[in-house]
Amino acid sequence: MQFPKAKVQEWIDANKSEILETYQSILIIPALSPEFKNGDGEWKKTRRLLEIFKAWGWGEWIEVIEIPDERAQNGTRPNIIITYNPNNLPLDDGGSVISVAHMDIVPVGDLSQWDHDPFDPVVQDGKLFGRGTEDNGQGLICSLYGLKCIVDLKLPVSHPIKIVLVADEEVGSRYGIQPLIKQKLFHPKDLVVVPDSGVESGLEIEIAEKIPLRVQITTEGRQGHAARPNDALNTQPIANKLAVLLYDRLHTQYNETDSLFYPPVSTFEPTKRINNVDNTNTLPGKDVQHWDCRVLPSAPYEEIQKLFLSTAQEVEEESGAKISVEFRAFNIKVPPITAETPVVQRLKKAIGTMIPGEVKLVGIGGGTCAVFFRKADIPAVVWGHMAHVAHETNEFCLLDNLYTDIAVFAAFFLDLD
Ligand SMILES: [Zn+2]
Repeated sequence: MQFPKAKVQEWIDANKSEILETYQSILIIPALSPEFKNGDGEWKKTRRLLEIFKAWGWGEWIEVIEIPDERAQNGTRPNIIITYNPNNLPLDDGGSVISVAHMDIVPVGDLSQWDHDPFDPVVQDGKLFGRGTEDNGQGLICSLYGLKCIVDLKLPVSHPIKIVLVADEEVGSRYGIQPLIKQKLFHPKDLVVVPDSGVESGLEIEIAEKIPLRVQITTEGRQGHAARPNDALNTQPIANKLAVLLYDRLHTQYNETDSLFYPPVSTFEPTKRINNVDNTNTLPGKDVQHWDCRVLPSAPYEEIQKLFLSTAQEVEEESGAKISVEFRAFNIKVPPITAETPVVQRLKKAIGTMIPGEVKLVGIGGGTCAVFFRKADIPAVVWGHMAHVAHETNEFCLLDNLYTDIAVFAAFFLDLD
């Protein structure tokens, strides 16, 4: 069929205030993984979404898959699958058109740097500000309303459409998309889009990701009085030295480039540092630092892990402190998807209905749900139309992008000529 653009846009225009209201009513409920302070999971947000779906008459299309997690509210991490299958087609043969968005968010960070309450989203200059607006509220809302538009306008579809709303994306997807894929709920012939990253033009489809490597380094010395450093082993300078050595070595030794990616190099960044002592006159006896690395598929992943270990050992021997290195490695090597892959072609066509210009295929820093699909031989792509403010303070979504994306998702769900 031809994309009924005027009809779809008219529907979106008529529903703008409802769309915004739904969006805000979801954003006021934080859903933080238990790894974070006060994190109790996605239970409350899921209840809110289920209420909305019931009101829309979608009740029978909903399946909630709970992954046990005793740390979370009610001991569970709920995931929602919406299946719209008006022709009652078999679901095991593949060919479903699927969007996957995540319900969880990251912490607000430094609250004093927010201009508004991050959980009381407000509109200013056409932007909706709040934690989770871009990541991943935008993807969630545009998928839902893309489908709602098709349902309300009774536009014909010849295949099942699914929207999958997952838990735990920000921490590693162990209670979200990973177990869902393991339960064989998806098929290599499915067409999967993950609207969880993108550029302002909306003209880039992400087809490859760097491989994440998370590292925790614990340095143990001996706590003491700052006036008597000889009686203690201060871990602060030791851990600093280790961080600087690692930073220099990683960046000089693993500087290969790949122009598919932005930035075109592997990234190695020290990030979280656990608070050590509360007062100025105590020498810390323990230091915990975290690293977030995103490794190009062409870089030697195991060798990079070995460099962390050997550098830590070197500093350990020299300083007398005990240093341990722990990895959260995701050694997921998957070939990038090509321009001929059906999901890429379908999405390109859908983008073309709303956004003029040439669509580019790119690689990104990574860590989205798409990686786990690719690992299971299900070609998934990442697309969004975003300002790149995820995880920042004053995170926002440009509402015009949201409305365009709803139309793009409607087009993606339909069978266009
Ligand atoms: Zn995200």
